Amino acid sequence: MERSNLASILASWGYGPLFSQSLTLLARPDLAPARVISDLGSHLEIVDATGEPRHAQLSGRLRHTLFARDRPVVGDWVAIAAACADEPAVVHRVLPRASLLIRRAAGRADHEQVVAANVDTCLIVTSANHDANPRRLERFLTAVWDSGAAPVVVVSKIDLVSDGELAAVLARLAAVAPGVPILPVSAQLGAGMDALAAYLQPGRTVALIGTSGVGKSSLVNCWLGTDHQVVLPIDADERGRHTTTRRELFALPGGGLVIDTPGMRSLGLLATDTGLDDVFADVAELAAGCRFRDCQHRGEPGCAIGAAIDAGELDPGRLAGLHKLARELDVAERRRDPQAAREQRARMKVLNRALRVRTQVDPKRQR
Ligand code: GDP
Ligand code: ZN
Repeated sequence: MERSNLASILASWGYGPLFSQSLTLLARPDLAPARVISDLGSHLEIVDATGEPRHAQLSGRLRHTLFARDRPVVGDWVAIAAACADEPAVVHRVLPRASLLIRRAAGRADHEQVVAANVDTCLIVTSANHDANPRRLERFLTAVWDSGAAPVVVVSKIDLVSDGELAAVLARLAAVAPGVPILPVSAQLGAGMDALAAYLQPGRTVALIGTSGVGKSSLVNCWLGTDHQVVLPIDADERGRHTTTRRELFALPGGGLVIDTPGMRSLGLLATDTGLDDVFADVAELAAGCRFRDCQHRGEPGCAIGAAIDAGELDPGRLAGLHKLARELDVAERRRDPQAAREQRARMKVLNRALRVRTQVDPKRQR
């Protein structure tokens, strides 16, 4: 095949200057780039410059030296050694990631799980009829800001609510997602799908997150124009879903790339993050006006946040959400190993900034 042809196939899978420069820096002309499209546990499925999916395995060295967080996941670009077409390719390096989504495994003592890499846009899907919960959206937003991907909020199933109800839902969500695009859609009616399509550009990777049943598969089916992915009934057993094997990163007919993995569906709050700062920027700004530097905003005199809530300028749920997240982070941290506890100190600095007064208090705002 023509060289330029191979390059354009790689580009269509999202290969860009960031990754090609990393590969060049390896100074390993024997290695070629490939993208992980499924993580099947025992092995990976990848696409390389031929565009053909094939199996791959980690080199023995990688298997023994990589930390859990550095192991290749769906969306990763890796450097592989060329092998016979019928043999699995061997992965020798994982190229530095542009973004990395991590979830805290639910139920189990605090295991963090890397879910996907190199996502450009993360679509946080929430349904207009009963899932539009601002607290949950805050959590998803925190995880996405932290990953390095750009969040977009998708409000699905708008055919199930009245215009008035939709307006109220949009206002509620907008209050916790300042500066984030919020797109109302209905997969059923095909409404709002054009605005969403703006994020499905050739070579760009989007991922869908959101709780089960909000309509993620239905959106993907719309984009595919087929029924490649089976849409399960709302109450389908989560475990059943997880055992369904399917491609986790795939190319849409129009050129965009989509990551939809089971792990993404329960993406929770990250244990190591700076994302809180972005999500609670409005609260942090108010906190600069509190009288006490170490104000916890729990009814202290001169608390600017309390005053804003009393004046109806701040939704009390915002503060409750912040306190709750802070507690969860704390618990997650304590369950973690000592190494992670060290990271906690750095992280708490960020959190403290949001919870308390910033070190530099604007004198104009002091009362
Ligand atoms: P997922 O678990 O997030 O992938 O959600 P699914 O795509 O499987 O959808 C869950 C249920 O919601 C299915 O019964 C879909 O038919 C239904 N659904 C999805 N999108 C829409 C929509 O736009 N309008 C309506 N009324 N139902 C929808
Ligand atoms: Zn305060």
